[in-house]
Amino acid sequence: MIVMKFGGTSVESAEAIERVSEIVRSRMKQSPLVVVSAMAKVTDQLVAMGNTASTGDSGEALLSVKALRERHHQTAQALLGEKRAAALAPKLQAHFIDLENFVRGLAAVRELTPRGSDYLLSFGELLSSLIVADAFIVRGVKAAWVDSRECLVTDATHTRARPLMEDTREKSKKKIGPLLAKKRTPVMGGFIAASREGIPTTLGRGSSDYSAAILGAALNADKIEIWTDVEGMMTTDPRLCSGARTIKQISFNEAAELAYFGAKVLHPLTLLPAIQQNIPVYVLNSRNLKSTGTEITAQSPPSRDVFRAITAKKGVSIVNVVASRGVGVHGFLRSVFEAMDRHAASVDLVAISEVSMSFTIESKRLAEALIKDLAQVADVNVDNHQAVICLVGEDIHGKPGIAASVFNTVAEAQVNIRMISQGASEINISFVVKEDDVPRVVRHLHDHFFSAPAKKKAGVRVNGTGRVRRRPANGRPSLRRAAAAAI
Ligand code: ADP
Ligand code: ASP
Ligand code: MG
Repeated sequence: MIVMKFGGTSVESAEAIERVSEIVRSRMKQSPLVVVSAMAKVTDQLVAMGNTASTGDSGEALLSVKALRERHHQTAQALLGEKRAAALAPKLQAHFIDLENFVRGLAAVRELTPRGSDYLLSFGELLSSLIVADAFIVRGVKAAWVDSRECLVTDATHTRARPLMEDTREKSKKKIGPLLAKKRTPVMGGFIAASREGIPTTLGRGSSDYSAAILGAALNADKIEIWTDVEGMMTTDPRLCSGARTIKQISFNEAAELAYFGAKVLHPLTLLPAIQQNIPVYVLNSRNLKSTGTEITAQSPPSRDVFRAITAKKGVSIVNVVASRGVGVHGFLRSVFEAMDRHAASVDLVAISEVSMSFTIESKRLAEALIKDLAQVADVNVDNHQAVICLVGEDIHGKPGIAASVFNTVAEAQVNIRMISQGASEINISFVVKEDDVPRVVRHLHDHFFSAPAKKKAGVRVNGTGRVRRRPANGRPSLRRAAAAAI
């Protein structure tokens, strides 16, 4: 069997869902399981609705529910015709009634808890998957809607729950196995799951890709297809650089590094279940029925370019920690790492000298309490609105002059580098710039490394790059260890 996941833009409208039906029909022989996201922008609208309602403004939040209801009903009508749409309407309506009641309750208590947020956001995928399943049936695909909350079991870390693989394997085999055996096509929502107690959870924003991979691993899929709005994984985000090219083949390690450092096309955790079970992953374009996209496997042929791709991760803070007088080097580092551990700080890049340390962390994950803790042993200051630029390529390992070439290009773009790191996995060079500099620096680097013939590009023009440090052992674990920890 195979898993096919379709993102928000792939199910954004009746026409888009028509295309999805065609794509799935072309794969019937491979026994597909279909995972869909909420229709494009719906999850953002649910988030906004939650924020409005928790200020006490139920009126505006209820207007958003109305708009969502109209969009889903209209899409269903366009796809299913009057009769079948009328049959589906009560199921959709039941969800809208639940949603309205929740919004009213929220406006009364004025507090959206993480658990409440998971419940609220689950409506997007529930609604889209119901419509897609019926659209398939009308087009001759024997689909069966499956409730993801009855298959995907997670811990209770609301808003970014982690799968409990054994439970998930057992439940999904029981629910989905018989359907596949009867040649039915299960259709389910990504992103949503439930705890062992049956309370709805979500795997974090953008995680339908991860759902697909978890289900693929649970059901021993032959491959996992991620269908999106671009022609595969590209040499950089095509929204940043129009010259971005599709990468035909890429290794698990490289693709995971790209996803971790901002290539939004894949949720950062997507590849972990696939790596563990060695399941090939394909990233494909749902607007192009003949898409060949990108193949992600354990090994990939050497790249003809120096790097495989460039990513930019925005919304990052640099935390600079300078030891207070009298604190020894050893005690200082220990205190800093202990504080990170206490606050479960997920740090990306680290640079260390005897008495100071800088690290980057997603701004939304930087807890005030961590800063307070660090301030006990050090002077702390934080720079927000930063971005990590990451150049990934397995072939850079052991080749001299590449870092010099990168930093020379950044200097030509007249962009100031705030921090530098060579990744622990030794397949990336990462550095930090101001968020505003991202488009300029990415375009310059892309022009330099991906437009001219490969030999010329690796040319070294300056010597030395200053201090390049690896992440410490308690930074992000290696991929294989992370895979073991997460599933
Ligand atoms: P979906 O709704 O299908 O999950 P996303 O919006 O989450 O789609 O991801 C697709 C988007 O990822 C693309 O439109 C593109 O702008 C962005 N992106 C960022 N980096 C890359 C990259 N290296 N290759 C391809 N797409 C990328
Ligand atoms: N709908 C969810 C989100 O927007 C999950 C996803 O699209 O992957 O975050
Ligand atoms: Mg996505």
